[in-house]
Amino acid sequence: MNARPDPDQATPAFAAHDHRACEARALDEAEGRLARQGGRMTPVRRRTLEILLESHRAMGAYEVLDRLAAEGFGRQPPVAYRALDFLVEHGLAHRLQRLNAFAACLHPGQDHAPAFLICRACDTLAELPAPPVHAALSDLAAETGFAVERATIEAVGLCPACAGAPA
Ligand SMILES: [Zn+2]
Ligand SMILES: [Zn+2]
Ligand SMILES: [Zn+2]
Repeated sequence: MNARPDPDQATPAFAAHDHRACEARALDEAEGRLARQGGRMTPVRRRTLEILLESHRAMGAYEVLDRLAAEGFGRQPPVAYRALDFLVEHGLAHRLQRLNAFAACLHPGQDHAPAFLICRACDTLAELPAPPVHAALSDLAAETGFAVERATIEAVGLCPACAGAPA
């Protein structure tokens, strides 16, 4: 039996929700973050972020490139890689190591230490704020004398919808 999700911890990624509101908020926070950093939101960077924000799913660089090419931004892979790298460097998107893919950051308004939950059945991806997880990892590493500078925490499993679906 699954534990009932705590509403304070629940992520919209796993429930029916108004995704337009998600998209609009993340885009708005991203613009604000970039302005504070003095970065420039060019049309291709903005479009790349919008494409990533369309769903709670990570996308490979080639999938992003196909979309950009179809919209006339150019077909050369560097077009997509440069835009994705820019978004990751500025904290507007995350690179998922396990999937070799990218996802828009849903909380670019604050600096944060996320953990990612990836559904292996439907590819839904949730980003959770997880400072305690990062702190625990840093503490464990410190016991060996290792100073953690960056950690990506990615868990694979089943989302509530897929866990509840008949096999
Ligand atoms: Zn959403
Ligand atoms: Zn994030
Ligand atoms: Zn799922």
